[in-house]
Amino acid sequence: MMTPTHTPPTERKFTLAKRIYGPRVVGMLLSAVCVGGALLGVQSSPWVWLVMLCNGIVWPHLAYRWASAQADPNAAEERHCLFDSAMAGFWFATMHFQVLPGLTLLAMPTMNAAGVGGRGLLLRSLLASAAGSVVGGWFWGWQFNPSPSLTAQLLCAPLMLLYPILFGSNMYQMLRHLDRQREALRYLSERDGLTGVYSRRFFEQRITQEFDSFQRHGKTVALVMVDIDDLKLINDSHGHTVGDELIRQVGKVLLEQARRADVVARFGGDEFVLLLPFTGSDEALEFVRRVQAAFALLAHDDARFARSGMSFGIALAQADMEHHEHWIAKADAALYRVKSRQRGSVEVAQAPSAAVALA
Ligand code: GH3
Ligand code: MG
Repeated sequence: MMTPTHTPPTERKFTLAKRIYGPRVVGMLLSAVCVGGALLGVQSSPWVWLVMLCNGIVWPHLAYRWASAQADPNAAEERHCLFDSAMAGFWFATMHFQVLPGLTLLAMPTMNAAGVGGRGLLLRSLLASAAGSVVGGWFWGWQFNPSPSLTAQLLCAPLMLLYPILFGSNMYQMLRHLDRQREALRYLSERDGLTGVYSRRFFEQRITQEFDSFQRHGKTVALVMVDIDDLKLINDSHGHTVGDELIRQVGKVLLEQARRADVVARFGGDEFVLLLPFTGSDEALEFVRRVQAAFALLAHDDARFARSGMSFGIALAQADMEHHEHWIAKADAALYRVKSRQRGSVEVAQAPSAAVALA
């Protein structure tokens, strides 16, 4: 059968603030090491070091708390990305524009901005970095010392090497998360909520494909319509929850007896429909016999279902059918005849001699 599992993939809350928190903590720490290395070659007061350490160690935690407390945490995170860019520009000027540590430092918020907000945020991030550099240059006086010391070069290596790895893994996790979400949506759109078998909408798509395939290649396909007998009686005597349980159990029985390639769907109410590819009337009757036996066992084990049963109408795809609707109508008519003549049995459309009572 085509229903591998009844459990929809789990949903996980995954906000931007949460996603960016870990990489920012590590990235800002590595940035502080990088800036520290560059500041060693520059005359700077203890205040500069203090501000730099606050920016590198305290700021990521504050950013997360602030973003989480906002009505729109994603917008807050975008602002924080711009702040990171502006600060990177400021530290670039503070380290007298040492090229290697400066560019390594600027790469981190630029990458974040591009990853979080696309081209628009990337552009604003570059402008924020430029503005930060201008403020830094104005604040400290414009001093240029582009060649960093060996120590400064070595201390920017961790940021240069580790941050892209961190960024890449973060992106990968986000893509996996999106995949899982897409899978969950697909599951919900294809399944019937009560039974976990396919929905009528999905069935309509599949029968069109199967009918096309029959018309092109003459592939034998059986369509089986199923209706639960006396569900109203079960509802009235035991309540709707028990009626629901009966519908669920019938769905389970059908799934258990179907093959991997078969399509089991809920047509609506207490009606199910199955598409059995490469199946002639004898095999379809054999399938119904197995389902009847499984249902009999169920009704034997659970007395609440003892007064119920299942009726079946079978129709094979035929060359004189112009549309798959005719095929459905044929199986439905066979089911209708079973219902009016002998509930709990089966009839194959257009083959009255093959009608078999399995009650
Ligand atoms: P029959 O033997 O002729 O099939 O009669 P029936 O009592 O099964 O009634 P019928 O098939 O004509 O109509 C289906 C009934 O099943 C109507 C409604 O009361 C009940 N039903 C439809 N959908 C649900 C459902 O999701 N849950 C429950 N508990 N009952 C449902
Ligand atoms: Mg019924």
